[in-house]
Amino acid sequence: MPAPQCASCHKARAALRRPCSGQALCGTCFCAAFEAEVLHTVVAGRLLPGAVVAVGASGGKDSTVLAHVLRELAPRLGISLQLVAVDEGIGGYRDAALAAVRRQAARWELPLTVVAYEDLFGGWTMDAVARSTAGSGRSRSCCTFCGVLRRRALEEGARLVGATHVVTGHNADDMAETVLMNFLRGDAGRLARGGGLGSPGEGGALPRCRPLQLASQKEVVLYAHFRRLDYFSEECVYAPEAFRGHARHLLKLLEAARPSAVLDLVHSAERLALAPAARPPPPGACSRCGALASRALCQACALLDGLDRGRPRLAIGKGRRGRDEGGTPREPGRVRTPVPEAVPTF
Ligand code: SF4
Repeated sequence: MPAPQCASCHKARAALRRPCSGQALCGTCFCAAFEAEVLHTVVAGRLLPGAVVAVGASGGKDSTVLAHVLRELAPRLGISLQLVAVDEGIGGYRDAALAAVRRQAARWELPLTVVAYEDLFGGWTMDAVARSTAGSGRSRSCCTFCGVLRRRALEEGARLVGATHVVTGHNADDMAETVLMNFLRGDAGRLARGGGLGSPGEGGALPRCRPLQLASQKEVVLYAHFRRLDYFSEECVYAPEAFRGHARHLLKLLEAARPSAVLDLVHSAERLALAPAARPPPPGACSRCGALASRALCQACALLDGLDRGRPRLAIGKGRRGRDEGGTPREPGRVRTPVPEAVPTF
């Protein structure tokens, strides 16, 4: 059966059906619609003219698409971009991913700063954390540590380059997985805080925005495909151990039964509100670094303290309800992942 006409320009043949709406579009109109939707999210997330925006760059598909779209939109938005990459110190993984970030920075002529866990966190790399927590080089809790430390490292890198805002490439699937994980853990505090398009920058932290938060993973991959973007997509060696993988599997099952499940979950988190009696006390300042903290030490300082004292699981075990695997394991594959099978193309 021949492909239908593009429902937007009515000239070219459609190249895909949008997973979110079923609309048949050509590649050019799909990319234009995708960019317009990101622009809308960015404006709603209050990335205002004059902002110096640190883009968390991992070399993966999401941050690659994010940097590409923001670079296209930057003149209209009146913002300037800085790529900030985090080297977690994961042998056999991060070096190749950072090479992809360096290629992107050179091609797009964007300034790039790399900050390393080893330099920021008293010599600790993720490989050293994994050895300390499991003794075997792998641990189920790696992503718990990494998520907390990466957030801190990105903040430090953003401050280093004089950024006023931080943006990350979390897509709608990532957000829906996080909502599911918080439900599965019964973490009401995080559920209530997890909505919205980012955070306004409480406690002196830089404001954060997630411009791809309403874009499905399939559409991110499609955009990278039609724009012929070069990105790195091998899976982190610690990803198979992550609890997030269970949430991802569950989400795929839900999506098969209800295609709108991803966006429904994202929007449900935006509307959740805690009953007054269930609200945690307002956070204070970490006694060590001054960051926002619900206890004497913030999450990052508590985890590092446990590592330094040779009791790395203490901080996780005691505060399990309050922890999150903030990390987002990447998709398997390599440069320019093919269009996903689940996406109808012509
Ligand atoms: Fe860190 Fe992501 Fe690897 Fe987990 S999967 S250890 S969060 S890079």
